[in-house]
Amino acid sequence: MSTATPQKFEFQAEIKQLLDIVIHSLYTEKEIFVRELVSNASDALEKLRHTQITEKDIFDDKLELEINVTTDDKAKTITIQDFGIGMTRDELVKNLGTIAHSGSKAFLQALGEGGAKNSNLIGQFGVGFYSAFMVAKSVKVYSHSWRAAEPGHVWSSDGAGSYELEPSEGERRGAKIVITLKDDCSEFAEDWKIKEILERYSAFVSYPINLNGKRINTVQALWLRSKNEIKEEEYTEFYKFQAHAFDEPRLRLHFSADAPLAINALLFVPKDNTEKLGFARLEPSVSLYCRKVLIDAKPKDILPEWLRFLKGVVDSEDLPLNISRETMQDRSLLEKLNKVITKRFLKFLEEEAKNRPEAYAEFFREFGHFLKEGAALDHTHKDQATKLLRFASSLTEKDKTTSLTEYVSRMGAEQKEIYYLVGPNRSAIESGPYLEAFKARNLEVLFCYESVDEYVMNNVREFDGKKLTAADHADVKLSDLPKPEGALADSDVATLTGWLKTTLGERVAEVKASDRLVDSPVLALNADKFMSPHMRRMMKAMNKDGADSPVRVNLEINPRHAVIKRLFELHGSNPDRAKLVAEQLLDNALICAGLLDDATAMVARLNLILANA
Ligand code: ADP
Ligand code: MG
Repeated sequence: MSTATPQKFEFQAEIKQLLDIVIHSLYTEKEIFVRELVSNASDALEKLRHTQITEKDIFDDKLELEINVTTDDKAKTITIQDFGIGMTRDELVKNLGTIAHSGSKAFLQALGEGGAKNSNLIGQFGVGFYSAFMVAKSVKVYSHSWRAAEPGHVWSSDGAGSYELEPSEGERRGAKIVITLKDDCSEFAEDWKIKEILERYSAFVSYPINLNGKRINTVQALWLRSKNEIKEEEYTEFYKFQAHAFDEPRLRLHFSADAPLAINALLFVPKDNTEKLGFARLEPSVSLYCRKVLIDAKPKDILPEWLRFLKGVVDSEDLPLNISRETMQDRSLLEKLNKVITKRFLKFLEEEAKNRPEAYAEFFREFGHFLKEGAALDHTHKDQATKLLRFASSLTEKDKTTSLTEYVSRMGAEQKEIYYLVGPNRSAIESGPYLEAFKARNLEVLFCYESVDEYVMNNVREFDGKKLTAADHADVKLSDLPKPEGALADSDVATLTGWLKTTLGERVAEVKASDRLVDSPVLALNADKFMSPHMRRMMKAMNKDGADSPVRVNLEINPRHAVIKRLFELHGSNPDRAKLVAEQLLDNALICAGLLDDATAMVARLNLILANA
C-alpha cells in the first residue's frame, strides 16, 4: 500500500509520552544513543545472516555485513548505516511508530512506578531507537528490506508527535539513520568523540564498525568463542585490552552456562593485588555485556564485593540491553547471575588448589585476604570460601600452608576442635608458651599471622562441625599427660599457688598448676572471654574504650620447671626476693601473651633482681 507522496502518521500515545521524556530529560549521558543504534544495527545484521541461511533471494546480496558510521561536523550530522535486514514500509510503521518491544515498554513501566524523578533511568534502560531524540533535531531512517520486491522508504520525524513516510529510490539493503543534531549536541558530529564512544560500548560487536572509513572494533568477543580454539596469547592480549592492564593474568576462567541463565564469562585474576600494595580499594570491574554490547563497565551487583579483584567480562543474553536496577524482576536476574558466577569461580579455585597447589598457594599469598573477607562476611558463599583458606600450622614446613580440610583429616578421633594461635610470625608462636601443651599432645595448631585472622576465625566459627578455638584461651580443656618426673609435690604446688595468688593480688584472677606447660615456667591465659589479647591490642591501637582496663589473667605454673622449684624454696627463705621473682614471672608471661602495656616498672624490677644476683 505504498503511496508516492509523503504520508503523515501520529505516534502511538505511549511513544509520544516516551519521546516527551527523552527530549526534555536533562540526562547527561546522551551518548548512549550511539550504543543503542549500533546495537540495533548489529541485531539487523545478525538477523540478515540468519535469513541468508534459509532464503535465496536476498536484495543487494553482495554487500558486506558491516556498520558504517559517518560524521559531518559542518552539517552537524551523524549517520549510522548497516547492511542488515532492513525494514519494509509496514515494518517501519510498526517498529518505529508503536511500542512493541521490550526495552521501551519496561522503561515506561518503571516510570509508572515512580521512576520519573530519576533522570538516570534513560541510561539504564537505553530506550532503544528513541534515544536518538535526546540529541536530534530530526531523524531520518532510510531503509530497504532484504525482500527485493519491497521498495525503499524514508521515515522521518522531529520527535514532536508525528512522523512521515515516503518512498525512496536507490536505497541499499539495510537501514541508514541520519541524525541532524541539536545545536547543543554538535559534539556528536566530531570524529574523536564518536570514536571514544564506540570504543567504550561497542568494542566487541562482531560486525565490523567503520567510523569515517576507519575500522574501530578489532578485538573479538573472545568470551563467545570456543575454548579450545583460543590461544594463550589471545587470552593475554584480550585481558590487557579489556582490563586496561599491563601485567599477565595470574589465573583465568572461561566458562559458559545455560541454566538457570545463559551466561558466557571470561574472568581473570591479575598478577598483583594492588590493594595489598597500598593502592586504593579496588572497584568492581567485571563488565556486564548483553550479546557483546556493553551494559555496564563496572556493575556493582554481578559479583560479591569481596571478589572485586576480578577482571573480565560476563555476557548474558537473558538480560535486556536496557537493564534496570529498579525493577524487582531485574534485581532477581542480577542476583541469579551473581550466584551462578560466584559459585563457578569458587569451584574453579578449588580445582586450581587441587591441580596446581604451588600456584594456588602463591595466588593465596597475594589474594587470600579477599577470600578471608568472603569466609567471614558472605553467608551465601561462606562454606566454599572457607575451604579455600590456607594457614601455616605447627605441622607444616616453613613457608608451607594447609587447608582446614587437610587439618580435619589429620585430627585424631578424640580431638573435637580446631586450634589456632595468632602471632606475628612462626618463630614468635613457636617460642611462646602456648604451643607446647598442644605439641606434647600431638595436637595440630594453625598459625595466624595477619591482623584480620582473629576476626575471620571468630566469624567463621566452625568448619565441618568443628569449632575453631583459640589455643591461648582459658576455656580450652586438654587431656591429662602422665605426671612428669621431678615435679614439685601436689601439696607444695598448692602452697605455692596460694602464696602467688596473695602476692600478685589483683593482677591475677587465678593461679594454678598447668596441664599445658612443658618447657616454659609460666603462662598467662586470657581470663576475659570477650576480649582476647589481640583484640585488646587492636583496640589500643585504635584508641578504643576498654583497652585500658587493667589486665587480669589466669596464671599457670609449671611444677616441673627449675625456676618454679627454686621459687618454692625462695618463698620460704626470702619472701621479699621471692616476691620480686614472682612479679617478674608474671610480667614475662604477659609479654608472651602480648599483654604487657608498660615495661617501665618491669625494667626497674629486673635491674633490682640483677643487682641482687
Ligand atoms: P529493541 O532494539 O529493544 O527492539 P529499539 O527501539 O532499539 O528496540 O528498536 C525497535 C525495533 O526497530 C527493533 O526491534 C527492530 O525491529 C527495528 N529496528 C531498529 N533499528 C533497526 C535497523 N537498523 N535495522 C532493522 N530494524 C531496526
Ligand atoms: Mg535496540
